[in-house]
Amino acid sequence: MNPTSPIKRIAIFGSTGSIGQQALEVILANPTKFSVEILTANSNDELLIQQALKFNPNMVVIGDENKYTAVKEALAGTDVKVFAGEQALEEVAAIDCYDLMLAAIVGYAGLKPTLNAIKAGKPVALANKETLVVAGDIVMRTAVENRVPVIPVDSEHSAIFQCLVGEMRNPIEKVILTASGGPFLGKKTNFLVNVKREHALQHPNWNMGAKISVDSATLMNKGLEMIEAKWLFNLRLDQIQVLIHPQSIIHSMVQFQDGSIKAQMGLPDMRLPIQYALAFPKRIPSDFPRCDFRRLQTLTFEDPDVRTFRNLGLATEALHKGGNLPCVLNAANEIAVYAFLRNRIGFLEITDVIEKTMEKVSFLQQPTLEQYFESDGEARSYAADMIQL
Ligand code: NDP
Repeated sequence: MNPTSPIKRIAIFGSTGSIGQQALEVILANPTKFSVEILTANSNDELLIQQALKFNPNMVVIGDENKYTAVKEALAGTDVKVFAGEQALEEVAAIDCYDLMLAAIVGYAGLKPTLNAIKAGKPVALANKETLVVAGDIVMRTAVENRVPVIPVDSEHSAIFQCLVGEMRNPIEKVILTASGGPFLGKKTNFLVNVKREHALQHPNWNMGAKISVDSATLMNKGLEMIEAKWLFNLRLDQIQVLIHPQSIIHSMVQFQDGSIKAQMGLPDMRLPIQYALAFPKRIPSDFPRCDFRRLQTLTFEDPDVRTFRNLGLATEALHKGGNLPCVLNAANEIAVYAFLRNRIGFLEITDVIEKTMEKVSFLQQPTLEQYFESDGEARSYAADMIQL
């Protein structure tokens, strides 16, 4: 970006989350490169208000309509427009007032706003992997039709994306998705049966939102990422290898047809892939801590333990069969993870809920968007009944 480049106006959907807050740090450090146009939250009105007062966006959206008055009153002395509710979230995504959406809502709730942004021709920096897990074919097709770039924020996919710069004419032989292994790496079922919410939220390398932290602990996160990789990079299942790399220094790798492998490396710090996606195609300076190879004792790699962490197998099955199965897997996982976070089910039961829901919901080979929504609803209600939520 040269000094005369226009400021990129950013819409952060999910600004109160872990990704959203780190994106605001990046923007704060680069006031001549980025401005904040839209901020959204679901229920954290206090943080949304603080962010709005600090960054002075054009508009904010609070998902929970009961919080509308509180946000509106707190921002009464400003020019910030305030909206509330799920529909507002979707509509605001389509308004032509910003240059790039950072899709950082967690879960299925991120799908409709992201799809609306793409339909409106807005480039998307995608953190919300569930959007591609639920309806990756439709999302990517819509992006191609509208000539909209989808720039990955997930560190693994950002790594692959960075490895592919300059390689567009060179086919990928395979990608190697690295995984830290989460807090329960090396543990077996007899240990996992007793783990609780607070253990699962202790990720060794990354500080993330609650849902993705549990997904990392069950290895579902890597399963979701395999599906995300398939859609982002147009890969077959046999081109995606998952490798446990506990140090999280290599964020992922691409192997080309000549056997050469490119890796993207760095300290585990989500601000880096966030900044890369916001500034793409430029790299801009940062003061994030640097990786010093002399301080790294070792970099190790091993196969994932799919017998213990069965979610990875379920996600692989969903990826293999395709259709609405990844959507069903995602819905059941969201219900099960939130039940686990509320201490309603045990850690290992998360997998049981997903497996039974995948068996139960009718399979559709090529769903329409409406059928994806229906499959999501069906899977949620089946999973919730099973847990007696
Ligand atoms: P958080 O739980 O920290 O934040 C989620 C954000 O989404 C919050 O702003 C939250 O609002 C909002 N939100 C939650 N539910 C809804 C809803 N129903 N409608 C509208 N907004 C909603 O999540 P993360 O930041 O950790 O993750 C965001 C996404 O990025 C996920 O898809 C995750 O998989 C992905 N990701 C995250 C990484 C990380 O390091 N955190 C790394 C790679 C990918 P409120 O605060 O009001 O609840």
